[in-house]
Amino acid sequence: MLLFISDLHLDASRPETCAAFYRFLQERAVKAEALYILGDLFELWVGDDDDSALVKEVGDQLRQLSQTGTRVFFMHGNRDFLLGENFAKAAGFELLPDPYVLEVGGQRLLLMHGDTLCTDDEQYQAFRQQVRQPQWVEAILARPLEERRALGRQLREQSKSMSSRKSEDIMDVAQAEVESAVAQHRADKLIHGHTHRPARHSLPSGERIVLGDWDDLAWALSYEAGEWALKSWAI
Ligand code: MN
Repeated sequence: MLLFISDLHLDASRPETCAAFYRFLQERAVKAEALYILGDLFELWVGDDDDSALVKEVGDQLRQLSQTGTRVFFMHGNRDFLLGENFAKAAGFELLPDPYVLEVGGQRLLLMHGDTLCTDDEQYQAFRQQVRQPQWVEAILARPLEERRALGRQLREQSKSMSSRKSEDIMDVAQAEVESAVAQHRADKLIHGHTHRPARHSLPSGERIVLGDWDDLAWALSYEAGEWALKSWAI
C-alpha cells in the first residue's frame, strides 16, 4: 500500500490534529510500503534548528515509522519550504523535489504540492519566486531563531489577509497550467494538495486527485492492489 497526505498544518495550537496524525502513523502508515507527504505538514517551518516540542515530537514519530520499514518521502509546501536535510535525516525521511514523477503499476504519477499550479494568483507567484531564491533562504536562515519565528508569524498574518481579499477562483489551480504540467511530464495522474479542495477530477488524458487538508476531517489517498481511494475520517 502507498499513502499520500498533505496540508496537515501541524501547529502546537492544534493538539487534536497532531494526535490524529500520530494515530494515522501508528495504525495506518505502519502497514504501508511508503508514505508520501506532499507539503504543508507544518503550519510554519522556521528552520531545522527549531527546538520546539512539536518539532521534536513529529520528528520522533516519523523516525519511529521509518524504523518499522515504511519509507517516508516529503515534498515542501509553501508553509514548510525551509525544512532541510538536517531534519529529514533526523526524522528518517527523504526530500523530494516539486514536481516529482513516481512510476506505480505502469502509471506515471505526477506529484506536486500544488501552489505552482495556481498561476492566476500572480501576487502569490511573485512572492513565491522571491522567497524560494537560495540567497533569500540563506539570509533568512542566518537570522536568530526568535527573529525567524516573529517573521513567520508576520508572513502568516499577511498571507491570511491577502487570501481573504482574493476571489475563490484565483486561489484554485489554473486548468491550463494543470494540462501543461500533465502533458510535459506525460503523467497519467496528477496528485497534489494545497488548495484544500479534496476531489477527484477527470482530465482529457487521465485524472487529477486533490488531497484534503486536516481540519475537522483527516484525509489520505491510498493505492493498494491497483485501487485508488481518497478517504476522510473525523478527527
Ligand atoms: Mn500549501
